[in-house]
Amino acid sequence: MKNIPELFANMVFSDALMRERLPKDVYKALKKTMSQGTHLELDVANVVANAMKAWAVEKGATHFTHWFQPMTGITAEKHDSFISPTGDGHVIMEFSGKELVRGEPDASSFPSGGLRATFEARGYTVWDTTSYAFIKDGTLCIPTAFCSYSGEALDKKTPLLRSMEALDNQARRILRLFGNERVSRVTATVGPEQEYFLIDKDMFLKRPDLVYTGRTLFGARPPKGQELDDHYFGSLKPRVSAFMKDLEEELWRLGVYAKTKHNEVAPAQHELAPIFTTTNIATDHNQLTMELMKSVANRHGMACLLHEKPFAGVNGSGKHNNWSMSTDKGGNLLEPGETPFENAQFLLFLVAVIKAVDDYQDLLRVSAASAGNDHRLGANEAPPAIVSMFLGDELTEILEALEAGTDYQNNEKNQMEIGVTVLPHFPKDTTDRNRTSPFAFTGNKFEFRMLGSAFSIAGPNIVLNTAVAESLRRFADELEGAKDFTSALAGLVRQTFSAHKRIVFNGNNYAAEWVAEAGRRGLSNLKTTVDALPEFISKKSIDLFTKHNVFSEAEIHSRYEILFEGYCKALHIEALTMVDLVRGEIIPACIGYQSEVAGLLKKKTACGEYSVSLEEHLLGQISKLSSCLLKKLNILEDTLLETKEEREILAQAQYYRDSIYSAMSELRLIVDELETLVARKHWPLPRYAELLYSVI
Ligand code: ADP
Ligand code: MG
Repeated sequence: MKNIPELFANMVFSDALMRERLPKDVYKALKKTMSQGTHLELDVANVVANAMKAWAVEKGATHFTHWFQPMTGITAEKHDSFISPTGDGHVIMEFSGKELVRGEPDASSFPSGGLRATFEARGYTVWDTTSYAFIKDGTLCIPTAFCSYSGEALDKKTPLLRSMEALDNQARRILRLFGNERVSRVTATVGPEQEYFLIDKDMFLKRPDLVYTGRTLFGARPPKGQELDDHYFGSLKPRVSAFMKDLEEELWRLGVYAKTKHNEVAPAQHELAPIFTTTNIATDHNQLTMELMKSVANRHGMACLLHEKPFAGVNGSGKHNNWSMSTDKGGNLLEPGETPFENAQFLLFLVAVIKAVDDYQDLLRVSAASAGNDHRLGANEAPPAIVSMFLGDELTEILEALEAGTDYQNNEKNQMEIGVTVLPHFPKDTTDRNRTSPFAFTGNKFEFRMLGSAFSIAGPNIVLNTAVAESLRRFADELEGAKDFTSALAGLVRQTFSAHKRIVFNGNNYAAEWVAEAGRRGLSNLKTTVDALPEFISKKSIDLFTKHNVFSEAEIHSRYEILFEGYCKALHIEALTMVDLVRGEIIPACIGYQSEVAGLLKKKTACGEYSVSLEEHLLGQISKLSSCLLKKLNILEDTLLETKEEREILAQAQYYRDSIYSAMSELRLIVDELETLVARKHWPLPRYAELLYSVI
């Protein structure tokens, strides 16, 4: 048995280590920078860098890197060793304050969505003191933000930190109105549940589509899928269990609170959930989790698939973003309180979220949009593309009673009126029954369930934090000017719920009737990424983000370009991979099998005495499908030739969705049918059943 408390975070330059290893005044100065964002003096940075290096070298580290999160959605690092020549042919290990706080990676190879053309080409990384440095694979990693020389954000971290600040500012205004002067910081907290698939590495390497695109582009349905429900929460297979133990240990060493692990619904699908923490640390940790899942799986002879839909017809993978707000005094602002006054405060924060989700449903949808997630949303396994909220019956009844001005009768004595009665607590089992809702209240937090498994959680949390900050800003403006706080508060809760209750839906989000009902309620239904992304550059979106200093208008436009480019590139690579596989593997396999059957047919016919109906029938079917295959292949190739760089990005993306993707789907249909006809020994790709049951 390993001593977990001892190994936990032993690769992290944690707060405890800082206190232990830094002179008191330096530690204090650093803490001030961490909590208040004040400037870090170079002499302080020098001392911190030196202590960090000493610790890292003791742990066997030889290099350092600024670890950042460019718009690629994954992390980036460039390693420099600590060596510094002494002039006599030797080296010492050095790390300066300057190297700690600022780096200058070449920005030109990261997506910038036109920002580079408008502004300076160079980019630089700045230490994010709110996330701890750690050692990974012999390298001291410094979490950093990545900006252009003129200050535009080129990464996911910078706007996330800005959105957290926006939320903090507005939430504290509200708390002050409730007489709470002690809270000096409100932070958004997140616990992201991560789904993934594990398959055998040899099988993975035999599927170029998985290697290049993360998903299978072909594959007929297996005889056994997930219909028996025998995988969900089933016992772990030994290889999977060994992988999970190894992964957990590595995560714990890095200070990640890996907590829960289990098998998911689909065969070969699993989940890992950490204990929640502040949004920026949760974002860093989730990136580390995804990275380590891949490398640990590789060590165990497996491949970890993080794509949203690796297998057609089998549940895909998502990420549940559990979100709340907490104060530096330990309070959770979405937890019903002990006193009527606390409950009034709870209800105000609750309706702030309701308003935010209703007002900015399109932006939340944008934050969950990607080529990969388009396969999942609305596919009877994940929430639909329509954003709505689940509050549970009890909370909905409370708000409805408030709106109507009637008493809420939970039981005889529990009458509900703001500022008068104590709210009932909402135990998880009464609120968490609805698994189909995109945005569900689960007792003391909301669970945003539209995210795809491969996503950085930064984007959705930027939207969520900023949208809620905007609700709170409006509330604070109104309440700060009110003569009678209590009645203004009651009125505000009532009016807000009344104006935004259309977003509340406690029923089955997978049902067809909901789509119609949502349409009647005026909720938007942005079915694909291509429908959703234009909302990002709408006036409403620009107003929101610029007002709270989360994005400048130029940054929004650059991100819009990058997101669309990413979408088009993903489809382009998929289409090319299909063409390559069909030409290089599928057609030769069909020819090989046909010639085998034709050879037998010829032999049998020469003898004259055999029945040849099977061979004739098979040959007829395969050659008919093969001609069809060629036709569909040519259509896909022709459509690919028509993609035009000079087209405006939205038109280009529409072309990919409407022409290329449909040509791909038609080609796939033929290939999948051929797979069921061609003999296994001729078929070049491992089948779904082999992939899904490859780990035993
Ligand atoms: P499940 O949703 O699977 O039933 P839980 O509700 O126990 O599981 O937790 C799901 C996730 O929500 C965990 O990562 C947990 O740490 C996180 N969580 C719990 N409380 C909060 C909170 N106040 N803020 C953010 N995340 C939270
Ligand atoms: Mg959950």
